[in-house]
Amino acid sequence: MKSRAVWFAVPLGHYLGATVGVLFTAMPEGSAMLWPPNSVLLTALLLRDGRGMLPLALLVLLAELLADLPLFSLQESLLFGAINVGESIIAFTLLRRAGFDPRFGTLADLRKFLLAGPITAALLSSLAGAAVYSHFRGFQTSYLEFVRVWWFGDGLGMLVFTPLLLGVAEAWGNIAERMRAVRAADWAVLALAFGALAVFAATRDATLFGMPITVALLLPFAIAVAARFGVAVASGTAAAMALAVVVKTTIGHAPFRADEAHEAVLRAQEFVFVLAAITVGLAALLAQVHARQRDADLANARLAEANARREARVREKTEQLEALNRELRALASIDSLTGIANRRVFLEQGHKEFDNSLRYGTPLSLLMLDLDRFKRVNDRFGHEAGDRVLQQTAAAIVEMLRSGDIVARYGGEEFVVLAPHTGLHDAASLAARIKERISRCAIVHDQRALHVTVSIGVASRIDDDADLPALLRRADAALYDAKREGRDRIALAEAAAGSAAA
Ligand code: GH3
Ligand code: MG
Ligand code: MG
Repeated sequence: MKSRAVWFAVPLGHYLGATVGVLFTAMPEGSAMLWPPNSVLLTALLLRDGRGMLPLALLVLLAELLADLPLFSLQESLLFGAINVGESIIAFTLLRRAGFDPRFGTLADLRKFLLAGPITAALLSSLAGAAVYSHFRGFQTSYLEFVRVWWFGDGLGMLVFTPLLLGVAEAWGNIAERMRAVRAADWAVLALAFGALAVFAATRDATLFGMPITVALLLPFAIAVAARFGVAVASGTAAAMALAVVVKTTIGHAPFRADEAHEAVLRAQEFVFVLAAITVGLAALLAQVHARQRDADLANARLAEANARREARVREKTEQLEALNRELRALASIDSLTGIANRRVFLEQGHKEFDNSLRYGTPLSLLMLDLDRFKRVNDRFGHEAGDRVLQQTAAAIVEMLRSGDIVARYGGEEFVVLAPHTGLHDAASLAARIKERISRCAIVHDQRALHVTVSIGVASRIDDDADLPALLRRADAALYDAKREGRDRIALAEAAAGSAAA
């Protein structure tokens, strides 16, 4: 609420509310059945969190005097004013202590409001107000009767009008926007409710076209409004219906067909209570449900987002792992120093070639190479120089191969070549070319060229060879022969082969 408008709006609101209460809802003795004005000061205090309580209280007192003086004495008017102001302040104080949220967003807020306002504050003020009535004009009515009427009147006034005023104040800034957001079906329900209210207003003695009707028929309309609108519109509709019922009771339209005035008042107040409790309660309940739904939706959206993020992370990690695996597999099958296949891969592929050779009866030859006196190379020129020799040797062998031949580093300074479709004779000449090529290799060390020689054992598959290891064993034996016979030479397996010098 704008701070300057409040000094004008609160006393004016109280004056109008009190005038309605005094003129249209009062019983013959003067006490009001429905007392709207106390909700004005209460609303202002709630919205301003108590700021300007004293000046506002004085303004409200003044407004009450103006409204009461035509019907009551100055003494009575002053006392009523003080009691009403006190009621609003007590209600406000209790509500602030209870942590009440003025938006009526939950049933807990409604419960706090009922306890603080209509039940406690209104009861306290009714005890005082009834004393004033009994003292000044206690003719037929008992003190307790005054208490009851004042209590219910004030309590109902607070219950019906405070949510309405709070809602209006809250929506004040963007009321046009809110009205645009209302759907046609909702407008229709609101129109229907006020149509029903108009029909009811036209009745007398609870009879419509000679047909007896009851005011309870308004309830479904009020409930429908509460289900579709917020607390403000729901309590506004309830307020209009409550005023209609009460005013009709006062002016003798007897909406409850009660002949006796006290009973008519009681029925009217009962009805207003049921109406207000149901509509405001339902609107608050729905507000609470919607808020929870929004929270749940928000939480779900957050969860889905987090899941998507986690899945993306897992995907990324999986891809990284797969790449790493590919790299590892490659690393595991390649000799890191020479870049050619290692022993494991050679055995895998060699078994396949051996099986093919066996199945189709094609020749298959194996060369086993071992550098001569390699230990000395390391010893004299260092391990690094030895490594370079190994790299050059591997490159030299690869240079001599044909497609389909398989080469691998079999051990430290040992290499193997598997040559499919190659008989012993051709394998021997391949070995000779390789040996010659290696002998031409040179690495420069300390400005001297460094040469190495190689011994090679050659074996071709024969029917006695059950598997690749058998072939390997015979090639190895031939290599051993070559070494034994003086190195830098080629030895062929088979009994008839003997040894062949380069
Ligand atoms: P032989 O003519 O009888 O084959 O004599 P050798 O010295 O070549 O044979 P031996 O088996 O005694 O020694 C092989 C040497 O090869 C021993 C080792 O230091 C060397 N060697 C094995 N792997 C590597 C390697 O990766 N790098 C280097 N620089 N040397 C290696
Ligand atoms: Mg060796
Ligand atoms: Mg050697």
